[in-house]
Amino acid sequence: MIGGSIAGTLAAAAVAPHFAEVLLLDRDELPDEPVFRKGVPQGAHFHALLAAGRQAMDELLPGFSEHACAMGAVRLDSAENVMRLDRVGWSPRFRSTLEFLMASRPLIEKALRDKAGALPGVRYESGVEVTGLVAQSGRVTGVRTKDGREVCADLVIDASGRFSKAVEWLEELGYPAPTKEIVNAHWGYSSTFLRVPENWSPGFQALAVTPFGEGALSAASASRAMAMWVVEGERRWILTVQGSAGDHPPRKEAALREFISSIGVPELVKALDDVEFPEPISMWRDTRSRLWDFAGQPNRPEGFLAVGDAWMGFNPVYGQGMTAAALEARDLRDELSAHLDATTGDLTGLPERFYAKADTLIKYCWNSSNTLDHRIPGVEYTVDGEARQVEPSSSDFSDRLAAYMAQDPERYVRYRETTQLLRSPEWLSSDEIVSAVKANWDELGQAVVPR
Ligand SMILES: Cc1cc2nc3c(=O)[nH]c(=O)nc-3n(C[C@H](O)[C@H](O)[C@H](O)COP(=O)(O)OP(=O)(O)OC[C@H]3O[C@@H](n4cnc5c(N)ncnc54)[C@H](O)[C@@H]3O)c2cc1C
Repeated sequence: MIGGSIAGTLAAAAVAPHFAEVLLLDRDELPDEPVFRKGVPQGAHFHALLAAGRQAMDELLPGFSEHACAMGAVRLDSAENVMRLDRVGWSPRFRSTLEFLMASRPLIEKALRDKAGALPGVRYESGVEVTGLVAQSGRVTGVRTKDGREVCADLVIDASGRFSKAVEWLEELGYPAPTKEIVNAHWGYSSTFLRVPENWSPGFQALAVTPFGEGALSAASASRAMAMWVVEGERRWILTVQGSAGDHPPRKEAALREFISSIGVPELVKALDDVEFPEPISMWRDTRSRLWDFAGQPNRPEGFLAVGDAWMGFNPVYGQGMTAAALEARDLRDELSAHLDATTGDLTGLPERFYAKADTLIKYCWNSSNTLDHRIPGVEYTVDGEARQVEPSSSDFSDRLAAYMAQDPERYVRYRETTQLLRSPEWLSSDEIVSAVKANWDELGQAVVPR
């Protein structure tokens, strides 16, 4: 495994039952505590773990959620404890059956690593940088490391993240690069950890506001967003502030508070009145969605797979990265097991089989985040470096659909389960739902109140 972060750890759990040894090489020193590390700079920003991702993590590494909670992660009710404002207003609050696990990115990674590290045969080697692939007769047979070693493996999995060099390494071996698609809606982040007062009870454990987008009353409410939620224990919260279309949040506390206040939602200002900013503010600017189309690659070596952000680095705003890594790992577990049964132990053909299966999910995530990014002014879309025209779809139906879902608690939970990838989205385009939305078109349209 190249990279011992979230995707590498989950892929290790997926393959561990079938290999005598699973070795995860990471160029970072992997810390014993759930703390920030330089190889994962995004750890300073909030990480929403979708319910489907958490479910898959628990399947791959049983006891993950309990362990994370013992380390300080918090479970909360996705409807009752969350205040969320989007184009169709504040989401309904009621006791529901959909639970979220809130934690910092370093805590999620550490809880997963603890669980995977306890599996038979799984071993992490820190401080080892992979610098290339070794191949023979159409098959990747290992990796080269910066300290001059060649490490042999029956299967090499690249989980080295957004800045993976695997495509360059494959090209060095004579394999053509997969098609590369990039969507850039020029989002930027500023984040910090907050200290909240003892026994603070603001009436929520998570507060999130999305940009209003088209039809907003001000440029700030069109492009700016923020979220804050409890991450560890009672008093450590995280705040992430976002801006799209190049309208990026600043790094200084006073300017950041001003940026948030400009969104024009008094609840945000009130929530921040009580809290302190004891830690530095971190920025993140490279929010491009980048897909290497490994599934469509015409000529690929055996013995090599890419997973997680190394395959597709999503625009982080849509919170899909960790979940995609977990769902891919579940596909890998299932496909590997079925493949080995069918071939009596031969790994030939596994990459094709894995990509064909996991690609459905990857393309679903890719299309759903791009649909939203394509509506942002100035968005850029390139395929292999060539600019392509973007055709934004109208939000007329999706706005009304969201408003219709919010009218009924049971329907709303099903809807949230769908956006959390727990439920297939087909029912949202069923005749029953589409007719109901069309029958109430004007009334539902009034739920979209510009701010
Ligand atoms: C600002 C930001 C916010 C995000 N927010 C969310 C969110 O809300 N929800 C969500 O689900 N996802 C979010 N993501 C995405 C999420 O961080 C990733 O999807 C997730 O961490 C899984 O990534 P990964 O394991 O593929 O790669 P990473 O976590 O980036 O890990 C790559 C690992 O590979 C190691 N490595 C790199 N190169 C080498 C090498 N040559 N040799 C050895 N080791 C190497 C690194 O040290 C690192 O440990 C966000 C991302 C960003 C940038």
